[in-house]
Amino acid sequence: MKKKRNLDTDGPPFIFDAHCDTASVLADRPWSFRRSPAHIDRDKARQGGLGAQVFAVWVDPLFAPQRALKRGLEVLQALEDKVFAPALAAKVTSVAEMDEAVRGGRLAAWIFLEGGHVIENSLEILAVFRSLGVRGMTLTHGKNTDWADSATDAPRLHGLNALGRRIVAQMEQTGMAIDLSHVSDATARAVLQAVDVPLLASHSNSRKLCPVPRNLPDDLIRAIAGRHGFIGVNFHPAFISRRVYEQIEANFLRYGKEIKARSRGRLDDPEFLSNIEWEFFKKAVVGNDRVRLDQLLDHVVHIAASGGIDCVGLGSDFDGIASTPIDLKNAAAYPALVAGLRRRGLRPDEVRKVCGLNLRRFLSRVEKAARGRA
Ligand SMILES: [Zn+2]
Repeated sequence: MKKKRNLDTDGPPFIFDAHCDTASVLADRPWSFRRSPAHIDRDKARQGGLGAQVFAVWVDPLFAPQRALKRGLEVLQALEDKVFAPALAAKVTSVAEMDEAVRGGRLAAWIFLEGGHVIENSLEILAVFRSLGVRGMTLTHGKNTDWADSATDAPRLHGLNALGRRIVAQMEQTGMAIDLSHVSDATARAVLQAVDVPLLASHSNSRKLCPVPRNLPDDLIRAIAGRHGFIGVNFHPAFISRRVYEQIEANFLRYGKEIKARSRGRLDDPEFLSNIEWEFFKKAVVGNDRVRLDQLLDHVVHIAASGGIDCVGLGSDFDGIASTPIDLKNAAAYPALVAGLRRRGLRPDEVRKVCGLNLRRFLSRVEKAARGRA
């Protein structure tokens, strides 16, 4: 019998990424997951050695409040139709299932929701998503929900309200990972108070190196790490370099009038508005992608220095970002990232932790915490 691959020691590092938006891309375009222009597809995953991926079911806050659930279900179904039905990846809901898929040579696919507005303030809808295989949720996207504040909206609750506390408590009890990327600092601190389970920020960088609201200050990095949590570094140049962020902001201002003009009379059409937003986002980042892999690695090194080598990993945001570091263009480029981590002086066991084992250990802790309560 063939010896089972030990992910801790055998072969090239197991690569496990905590966040991508490929599901939305598949929902909106006639592309196959086998091979496509997207950052992630089956062929690029094989080429780059990607072993497991968290697929976000992202819903633009423009769809809230009336159509967020509908949109969420449609994006989820795109994964079922285009990824799981043709067996291009294995849908997994536990670490044991992931390990089995990876040992069988298949890409393991986890599903998280991105944006708490998807559950439309309903604990029952949250439970339905869990039944459908969803194992985590990013509490907000770019706008506040009725129960949690976003890092990029005007503070309203300065934490969580009673409904927010019930939602995170249910997630803790049922083994759903609580994702703090996109939430405000005050909301992140309130979540740390409200539950005992380890928490993650699936796709956030260091605010010390790139001072923007979406990134994490050192004290939150330490608080998440101190609770055995996980932080996945985001490949978006605007969250790697403040200079790029400023250029994008300036471009958005430049295109603001055009966006308004084209949206006039269509304000009740979230699909149209979401497409327009994305179109302008892409326009805004053209010419701004002069960020290199090494600048991303600075964030890995800084987060490891603040929170320890066990808390940091990957949260690419592939297919949710319009540009990437120039030497990390898509999932096929992961070997360059592995080589970069070695070049920066990480030991082989530390490279394995950052590439995937830290995220794997985090998810097994979330599972165990839920089992302990059952
Ligand atoms: Zn995001």
